[in-house]
Amino acid sequence: LLAEDGSVAPSIFAEMSALALRTNAINLGQGFPDEDGPALVLEAARRAISDGVNQYPPGRGQPVLLDAISRHQQRFYGLTVDPGSEVLVTAGATEALAATILALIEPGDEVVTFEPFYDAYGGLIGLGGGIHRTVPLRAPDFQPDLDALRAAVTDRTRLIIVNDPHNPTGAVFPLATLELIVELAHRYDAIIVTDEVYEHLTFGAPHIPIATLPGAWERTVTISSGGKTFSLTGWKVGWLSAPAAIVTAILAVKQFLTYVNAAPFQPAIAVGLDLPDAYFAGIAADMQRKRDVLATGLQASGFDISMPQGSYFIVADATPLGFTDGAELCRRLPELAGVVAVPIAAFCSPAHRAEYAALVRFAYCKKVKLLEQASTQLEALS
Ligand code: PMP
Ligand code: GLN
Repeated sequence: LLAEDGSVAPSIFAEMSALALRTNAINLGQGFPDEDGPALVLEAARRAISDGVNQYPPGRGQPVLLDAISRHQQRFYGLTVDPGSEVLVTAGATEALAATILALIEPGDEVVTFEPFYDAYGGLIGLGGGIHRTVPLRAPDFQPDLDALRAAVTDRTRLIIVNDPHNPTGAVFPLATLELIVELAHRYDAIIVTDEVYEHLTFGAPHIPIATLPGAWERTVTISSGGKTFSLTGWKVGWLSAPAAIVTAILAVKQFLTYVNAAPFQPAIAVGLDLPDAYFAGIAADMQRKRDVLATGLQASGFDISMPQGSYFIVADATPLGFTDGAELCRRLPELAGVVAVPIAAFCSPAHRAEYAALVRFAYCKKVKLLEQASTQLEALS
């Protein structure tokens, strides 16, 4: 986790955001929106602070938020989740992932993820002493080969980590892939950990939580976060739901990670989760429009793109522009076009980086005007 000189190596997101600030470039690197979430939610946090919701809340989370998470799972997915025993509030999805992985693996256990993978998975599997196995997702559609998935899961597998919709590729897994994951988890007695932070940002078929499949709930930890759904990434309110015995094991770790989470933001996120259906449909439609603006711009600039079905991100192949090294392109992009992006290699294990070398990720969770400006600037590349 340390750089060669012994300092803490910044994550690719921090590095690229710093590059954007330094060069005054448009930051399409780190995935955070440039508009804050719903006024009602912001107001609820201010009210909570004024009302004195400022001391340690319960470790599992404030009951008002636990109840709202349970209602959300029922309303959108028909999942009945007991708020008192089957839900846990965490410091973002990141702490949910950390506590889950650290609670459920022993050193030497294998953990399967898809690749490219969100960077925290690799770091956390390493912290837990696990062995990371990956199943490749390849352009153009970034769907896994099902035989490769079958080959990766064995009786050494403790966890299968799913990320649907997927960061960085924007892929959404079809039902058949989710069904195979459940079947393999049963066959090899593995637990499924599913990171669904982009659950409300899909652009075609509705999101299918893997926990809703027959036989899945009893061995699945479902993780989400208020960051993406309410455009409040800095609040770091996340949560997970799972059977009570699994939540208890995760709570045992969580109590020594953060103990409890930011009190006044919890009732505010509860207000967000209870917003009418139109809010959730609206954010998906809005994000789809942004995706379309940036996709058109990237194509006009000469990139080959893979059209994302969900998330904040689009993957572009720079080969047609004469760049085979995406990391180098990302370093030079501020000077060439005044834009910052992230190389897909940053989401890969060292052994597989070369296969993804020419790909870069652009975030479109930005105002349409900014995406249009970035598109115009990127035309300088062609
Ligand atoms: N998982 C994925 C797939 C993400 O893209 C992110 C980052 N936004 C996270 C987890 C972390 O979420 P949070 O900020 O809620 O910790
Ligand atoms: N999830 C966001 C991204 O992928 C931000 C991640 C981060 O800053 N750690 O860009």
